[in-house]
Amino acid sequence: MQRRERQLGHLIATAVIWLAMTLQAGAATLIRDADLEHALSELARPVLQAAGLSPNTVRVLIIQDDTMNAFIVDNSHIFIHSGLLLRMKTAAMLQSVIAHEAAHIANGHMARRAQNLQRANTISGLGVALAAAAAVASGRGDAAAGLGLGVRGSAQRIFMSHTRAEESAADSDGLRYMERAGLDTQGFSDVLNIFRGQEMLSQGRQDPYARTHPLSRDRLRAVEAYIQARRGEVKPDPDAAYWFARIDGKLSAFLRAPRWTLDRLDRSGTADIALMREAVAWHRTPDPARAIAAADRLVAMRPNDPFAHDLRGQILLESRQFPAAVAAYRKAADLAPRDALIQAGYGRALLAAGQPKAALGPLTAARDRDFRNAAMLRDLAVAYAKTGQEGMAALVTAERFALQGRLPDALIHANRAVGLLPRGSAPFNRAQDVVFAAEAAAKQRR
Ligand SMILES: [Zn+2]
Repeated sequence: MQRRERQLGHLIATAVIWLAMTLQAGAATLIRDADLEHALSELARPVLQAAGLSPNTVRVLIIQDDTMNAFIVDNSHIFIHSGLLLRMKTAAMLQSVIAHEAAHIANGHMARRAQNLQRANTISGLGVALAAAAAVASGRGDAAAGLGLGVRGSAQRIFMSHTRAEESAADSDGLRYMERAGLDTQGFSDVLNIFRGQEMLSQGRQDPYARTHPLSRDRLRAVEAYIQARRGEVKPDPDAAYWFARIDGKLSAFLRAPRWTLDRLDRSGTADIALMREAVAWHRTPDPARAIAAADRLVAMRPNDPFAHDLRGQILLESRQFPAAVAAYRKAADLAPRDALIQAGYGRALLAAGQPKAALGPLTAARDRDFRNAAMLRDLAVAYAKTGQEGMAALVTAERFALQGRLPDALIHANRAVGLLPRGSAPFNRAQDVVFAAEAAAKQRR
């Protein structure tokens, strides 16, 4: 095989070994929700454009983790913990977090350590990067230091932790992006103030953000001086406020106790967001009748909003009303044909309705657009298996394990796929990619 691939396999392997030695929990869990990601992309777009980055290539993804962190692992993903998202009070605060991470990307702070893992765009690469992120978030990112396995240093330093010089550059450039995009720079110091004093805490008590982005009083002082000197009149942006309320409303409804949400429906910002939150809260109670009634009112209010239909589809599907779920997702997919998460939901509903052959269309469309979805890969494997395509089922199962940072499991299924798929075909090569990464890891472990 090509040298580049071998090197990549080796790099991933060395990363995996010390992770395996420090990690129990496995990879970070991504919250993949079409509505949340769309709203995040609406908020990120002006920031990324001001940074000279393409909103189409840099994605903001949510990790389910109560601690506060935001980080990059390559030049095309910004990860934000749900714990940090729920602490944001304004759109400008959230956009400041994105601006700071965008500045790390634009300044090439990742490219410099990219030899470590430049291929988070491969499924194994991203899986390993997310496993490293989980190690850092759990405070175990340092434990891997000095194992002498070819990767010097810790998960924290290699993947996510920035130097103080990089931090001040990311702050000043991030503030410039905010200014250029006409956003309120005050959000920047509001975010840093959340972490005020954390540098005095022991590592174990810090939020991972304080470990990956060294904080200092100097940093806060510099940001506040910049804002004081330059902050002018900032026009309130009702669109940004709306998308922020939608993120905060949906994420909290999914993560907090249903009662908490139901008690606070009047603080949802708009009537449609209130209905969306009510539907989620009843769904999680669970009270399917009330959840579906709220979702029905939501789609009546926003008939052309694909994410309203997507939520209604999810509630119907998880309430085991399969034909109705298929119809709801079909409507969502008609309204947003390019949305991979909606396609994945449509495929899942078809599968649940006993139509694996029909499910293959939307599921493969989803896979082609976005491989970072473990639930979709699991559904796709089932659809392949039920339609007699054992080789493809083994391949996407291997890819799912790789995405989850479980390379030994991935290897078993990838080898099986290699044996079943036509030699030299595109799926065969995908299976080979997983085999390389996983075999190199196994060799290193011996
Ligand atoms: Zn930083």
